[in-house]
Amino acid sequence: MLTYKCEKCKSVNNTKLKIKDRGQYYLVYESSIVKKCLNCNHENKITPNNIKAVESNYIKLLYIFAILISLFLGYIVYNYFWDDNFLLNFRGVFFIFGLVIIIPFIIAGIVMNIERKAIKKFNNYYV
Ligand SMILES: [Zn+2]
Repeated sequence: MLTYKCEKCKSVNNTKLKIKDRGQYYLVYESSIVKKCLNCNHENKITPNNIKAVESNYIKLLYIFAILISLFLGYIVYNYFWDDNFLLNFRGVFFIFGLVIIIPFIIAGIVMNIERKAIKKFNNYYV
């Protein structure tokens, strides 16, 4: 998510711009865009170097989704494997159970890592 800081009240606003790095700014938008601050209505002239990348809100929801998916998959595995022979293949069940619970968190972690790298890259490159 790309944001800018209002010159006047210093509040952080979402730009809703879709660029991968600051170098793309003038290629995509030709000249500086003027954005009204949502907090104080001050008109800010946005230049590439006052755009800052921050973590998107959906990233914060990712771990909540991971928990829900884990619980759901855990429930399915529980229903599917939990029977009278459970003790005979306890290890196998335990392994699958662990796997379905851990995998959503691994995926969430990978996505978060990609996002963090993109943010770092964006913020370190000035034009
Ligand atoms: Zn403002």
